[in-house]
Amino acid sequence: MSRHLTEDEITAAAAGLATGAEVNEHLAACVTCNRAVEEFRHLVAERRASLEAEMPDWGAQRRRILVQLSEPGAEVVPLHRGHWRRTLLAVAAVVLAAVGVWLQFGRQAPAPAKPAVPVEKILAEVDATLADDQVPGFEALSSMVPTADEMASMMTSNGAS
Ligand SMILES: [Zn+2]
Repeated sequence: MSRHLTEDEITAAAAGLATGAEVNEHLAACVTCNRAVEEFRHLVAERRASLEAEMPDWGAQRRRILVQLSEPGAEVVPLHRGHWRRTLLAVAAVVLAAVGVWLQFGRQAPAPAKPAVPVEKILAEVDATLADDQVPGFEALSSMVPTADEMASMMTSNGAS
């Protein structure tokens, strides 16, 4: 085989795909084509690394929060303050929108026995937003807030002593 490898053959070799015996023989003997395959592999690895760097590492963030929580007296600092604030604003917007609908409906409707959007429903919506595991930061915050059971046990232990 006298010719160098084609672009397709170099790509295939770099990807580890089965290339013909002819290609393998040429690769074993030709420094130029070997270098081309190595360069292509390097390019792919670099691209993959930069793509991964662009993605937030939720796993690492979660571990850091857990470490912070396990330290006694440690304060939980939201790692992505900007993102965390945006989420807070989004929650506020949901509440305001729900209250707005309720007020509007309550004014227009002729003396409704019950408000169209009960407060419980608004609170449930906020709870659902806070409980959303996909929202980083709030996950940790909600675990900091004691549940009703925990509150009750705290009150009982205080009263018992
Ligand atoms: Zn070659």
